[in-house]
Amino acid sequence: MPLLKSWVASANSANHPFPLNNLPYGVFSTGEDEPRCGVAIGDMILDMAAAEAEGLIALTDYPLFDVPYWNDLMEEGPAVWAALRERLTALLAKGSKEQEAVEPLLVPIAESTLHMPLVVSEYTDFYAGRQHAQNMGAILRGSPDLPANWLHIPIGYNGRASSVVVSGTPIHRPNGQTKAPDAEMPSFGPSKRLDIELEMGAVVGTGSEFGQPITVDEADAMIFGYVLLNDWSARDIQGWEYQPLGPFQGKAFGTSISPWIVTAAALEPFRAPTPPREKELLPYLKGSKDGLYDIELEVLMQPEGADRASVIARTNYSRMYYSAAEQLCHHAIGGCAMNAGDLLGSGTISGPERSEFGSLMELSWAGREPFTLETGETRGFIEDGDTLTLRGNARGDGYTIGFGDCLGQILPAKAWG
Ligand code: MN
Repeated sequence: MPLLKSWVASANSANHPFPLNNLPYGVFSTGEDEPRCGVAIGDMILDMAAAEAEGLIALTDYPLFDVPYWNDLMEEGPAVWAALRERLTALLAKGSKEQEAVEPLLVPIAESTLHMPLVVSEYTDFYAGRQHAQNMGAILRGSPDLPANWLHIPIGYNGRASSVVVSGTPIHRPNGQTKAPDAEMPSFGPSKRLDIELEMGAVVGTGSEFGQPITVDEADAMIFGYVLLNDWSARDIQGWEYQPLGPFQGKAFGTSISPWIVTAAALEPFRAPTPPREKELLPYLKGSKDGLYDIELEVLMQPEGADRASVIARTNYSRMYYSAAEQLCHHAIGGCAMNAGDLLGSGTISGPERSEFGSLMELSWAGREPFTLETGETRGFIEDGDTLTLRGNARGDGYTIGFGDCLGQILPAKAWG
């Protein structure tokens, strides 16, 4: 499908992240206004609450968009999602008869504040990047061999919805308990090995029943859309606490997501297969569709006061071993109910080359081999004041599907006690 032309001129450039083909869903406010739903088109946001109040969008007998989250639309299910996308495309297409009515409802993104686009119901993070899992094994255990279950199970842990925040929210370096290998006792204080994880987040739009298993194809249809996700990680806290039950405080202090939910519908032309299976998956984990997407990803780092950000990694979401649909199926297979607004982190996305590694732990090989930024500074892990940014783009025929930056600045640890 080529670029769809819009009467919003800025949306018609091949490199703009928000063409008519995209139509990502966010929550915005201007000045003292209450945050409400908005759709990005070019440099503008269509005020969905206003469009609904004007009668330009009427999908249901009750309002859906004068709220600071997209969960109400998610609850309506795939038929209404598709109807909304069709209606928005008609309203914003070049030659639309309704241009005059819609034009006053556009707000410049540059004059808006973006908020969390959804209420995160629950948050689960996975470990589905093979290169990442091998790198972590090599760094932590001296061997890149995968855990015995890795090729059979999309490994995950239950994270905290309460600490998922929108791009731009500063993150304080966490305090926590750590123990150096040669120390007799653990100690308490600010993490010294603060890291990122480059991930995609899948947003569940349709729930599943408690006690009811689902198939991979059903799971695929339940996914509403995707965001960029930075699973901030305190490696020293994580390293001391993680056995035998997995990550806890090393992850719970913050997870950042990009401000726009890019719909699964917008990403449909970019579907990509999972890699060949080294071990055949059990039948319940097999679906009929390509579950990954061809999305170019990059990570940038900018020290406080530096005049520019340096790209420190570039990779692609299609590097993953398990798709979000496979992860969602596995999550629900024992009867766990999944809900609209659930967020599934993909796991760190790392490609085979060092330039494709999606965490500083890998890029600096646990700090043993620091890397150099364009400004000449070196880094092993994150220092106070550093800003980390994730970017994602799917490249179509004359258009780009972008996510908007997922960034966060690290502030010094808070005093305690
Ligand atoms: Mn993670």
